Amino acid sequence: MSQSRSMICKGCWQQMRVPVPLRGPASVPFRIFGIRPSRMNPNTCTVCELMFTRVMKARQITVDVSVLFADLRGYTTLTQSVAPQAVSSLLDAFYDECAAAIWEYDGILNKTVGDAVMAIFNFPMRHENHPEQAILAGREIQRRCEARRASLLAENVGLDGSELGVGIGIDCGNASFGEFGRSHRDLTAIGTVVNTAARAQAAADAGRILVTQAVYDRAGLSGGGSQGRDYQLKGFEGPVHLYAV
Ligand SMILES: [Zn+2]
Repeated sequence: MSQSRSMICKGCWQQMRVPVPLRGPASVPFRIFGIRPSRMNPNTCTVCELMFTRVMKARQITVDVSVLFADLRGYTTLTQSVAPQAVSSLLDAFYDECAAAIWEYDGILNKTVGDAVMAIFNFPMRHENHPEQAILAGREIQRRCEARRASLLAENVGLDGSELGVGIGIDCGNASFGEFGRSHRDLTAIGTVVNTAARAQAAADAGRILVTQAVYDRAGLSGGGSQGRDYQLKGFEGPVHLYAV
């Protein structure tokens, strides 16, 4: 994983062409001033994080983003056959694998909602093809988690892990950034894009990635011949057309 870590801040380089060292001896003087890798994406720095926080605090900021939700399925049924400790380390492994995959495609791990993780692409690091970046991150999450599942089953002979897998949903479009919630102030994105991505994730079976028409078109998959189908999503009046990618 260390090999995929950037030596300089990708955000500062992209926006200002300033090479801010994040790792190695050159980063030491920067760390003295509190500039270090961000926890939301370790390939960006705390200066970028501060900018992200400031922009979000300004409220009514609208940004074109891709939002990805990923949720681990079937692990609760494992609690009967595996030690509780093994289940919690499985969840930790899931979060780690999701984070690594999201960072690989320049997304930020915004927060965890219940057992699901929420990732945002195209902010603060810009990518014109962010819907495609989100799909690639989703596929990488599936690949990594499948490898984890295989090794878990190899270590626990006789264990039924057939229901174990990750469901993923992705939508893209304009989202509002801000501080939301009264008791617990939360810096995040809200809007239809976030809701649709979350509902698409809930509709995705283990091992599947469901994306909206907008993601499908903008990622250039329209010529792929996939039909997709209508889903009745919770909280939506009409059917929503989703594609498995
Ligand atoms: Zn930076």
